[in-house]
Amino acid sequence: MAKYDVTIIGSGPGGYVGAIRCAQLGMKVAIIEKYPTLGGTCLNVGCIPSKALLDSSEHYHNAVHTFKEHGIDIPAPKVNIKQMIARKGDVVKSNVDGIAFLMKKNKIDVYEGVGSFESKNKIKVTKADGSSEVLDTDKVIIATGSKPSSLPFITIDKKRVITSTEALNMTEVPKHLIVVGGGVIGLELGSVYARLGAEVSVVEYMDGIIPTMDKTLGKELLKVLKKEGVKFYLSHKVKAVSAKGKTVTLKADDAKGNEVTLEGDYCLVAVGRKAYTDGLSLDKAGLTTDDRGRVEVDAHLQTKVAGIYAIGDVIKGAMLAHKAEEEGIFVAEVMAGQKPHVDYNLIPGVVYTWPEVAAVGQTEEQLKEAGVEYKVGSFPMRALGRSRASMDLDGLVKVLADKNTDEILGVHMIGARAADMIAEAVVAMEFRASAEDVSRISHAHPTYTEAIKEACLAATDNRSIHM
Ligand code: FAD
Ligand code: NAD
Repeated sequence: MAKYDVTIIGSGPGGYVGAIRCAQLGMKVAIIEKYPTLGGTCLNVGCIPSKALLDSSEHYHNAVHTFKEHGIDIPAPKVNIKQMIARKGDVVKSNVDGIAFLMKKNKIDVYEGVGSFESKNKIKVTKADGSSEVLDTDKVIIATGSKPSSLPFITIDKKRVITSTEALNMTEVPKHLIVVGGGVIGLELGSVYARLGAEVSVVEYMDGIIPTMDKTLGKELLKVLKKEGVKFYLSHKVKAVSAKGKTVTLKADDAKGNEVTLEGDYCLVAVGRKAYTDGLSLDKAGLTTDDRGRVEVDAHLQTKVAGIYAIGDVIKGAMLAHKAEEEGIFVAEVMAGQKPHVDYNLIPGVVYTWPEVAAVGQTEEQLKEAGVEYKVGSFPMRALGRSRASMDLDGLVKVLADKNTDEILGVHMIGARAADMIAEAVVAMEFRASAEDVSRISHAHPTYTEAIKEACLAATDNRSIHM
């Protein structure tokens, strides 16, 4: 029987990063993945393919809408969805192949099959052909991730009523895509097909989109997406979705209780994801899940059984690839006797629409609720020379700082390249910078990052230069 210091179940960003860190720390590591390719949701059907399609559709959108103004005349471009999906497939392949290479390089044994507990120290790997083998292991990391959730009355047929996984593999551009859920997946994938010419209707239960982020961001994004033709049905309670032939019908009640009916050719259900533990036989290791199906862990990400840890989407917290990665590294270092730390307040969140949305730290709503005295500094992207040059005028940067100490408590932005710009705010907050500290740092001109400096100037003493 093969013997390991640590066996990791699941090869997503949590599992594979944890495996590499364990190997770096001298442990003998096995990783078990039920699918033939490594990388989990993120690389196969999540972060990477969605960003590939967002990039392709953004190019098309620009070719149709902005090239002319830039002085580029081309014949009317056409969407080749087959090629777009094929390129996305190539991007995924090069990424998942990269993980296989990293496993080899770090001498990590990869097992293809479903991992399940036989006991606390014995993990069975069952292959697709039904054959199995058992690994003997000192420690285990559960990194089995999550799956799309749905609503009790919706049947996902994967043809007309679909999840993100099918939406990443379309064979045609929908005529009318109905999206249930105005969260991250609904808006990212809704944007892809809206840019490619689909009519897109987003039905959201709450009274705003991306409702867990600072309200300013949702309001601004709503304006931009509406301008681009996306229709929104906010404060709508979906009560039925049915498919007949090529037609999908959605029924919802609006805030006043009036019934609204939408007809489309596809319905994307994007109402969140749930932790995935099917087939793990957690009971054989003495483990249970919480009321939301998540594996329970303590502050060291250890379950109630010593030596069994869990990370990523399968435990509490934000369902983000970089959160899972940090936890993979954290657990490896805990196992090695080190004292690592993850600051969950400083895990940034990004929505890859255009303009991009990005945030870190506390929202204004959270500060109000906690009774913290704060000040706000905002700066609109349209006031930047860089934004005018690229015609990316939408958006703003909003900095929240402690009213008494000036320490930055939250940074919320929407604008071109916000996904990359948020790193500056994370670094500043990691070092507990004040708004004035950042406002005194030289920012290259012309860049979008000048909006961060200007928002910090506004927060410090209401003294932005370019407003
Ligand atoms: P996963 O990536 O879900 O990996 C778990 C792995 O475990 C899977 O490969 C699964 O097959 C395997 N597994 C499960 N059970 C077993 C078993 N019993 N035996 C063997 N293997 C098993 N996050 C971001 O930060 N940025 C983004 O831009 C982003 N975009 C996204 C876009 C979409 C469309 C989706 C759906 C998600 C996106 N996410 C994004 C979220 C991100 O994908 C997840 O947070 C991340 O993948 C979680 O990593 P994980 O390692 O916990 O689990
Ligand atoms: P989400 O939680 O972001 O959004 C779900 C939305 O559905 C919410 O706005 C919610 O109010 C709404 N909703 C819930 N029930 C509803 C109902 N009955 N009717 C109408 N609306 C309803 O979830 P998601 O978009 O499915 O994404 C799942 C996870 O994947 C998220 O946790 C996210 O972190 C992760 N993800 C991240 C990225 C990224 O980082 N860019 C991209 C995609 C997915």
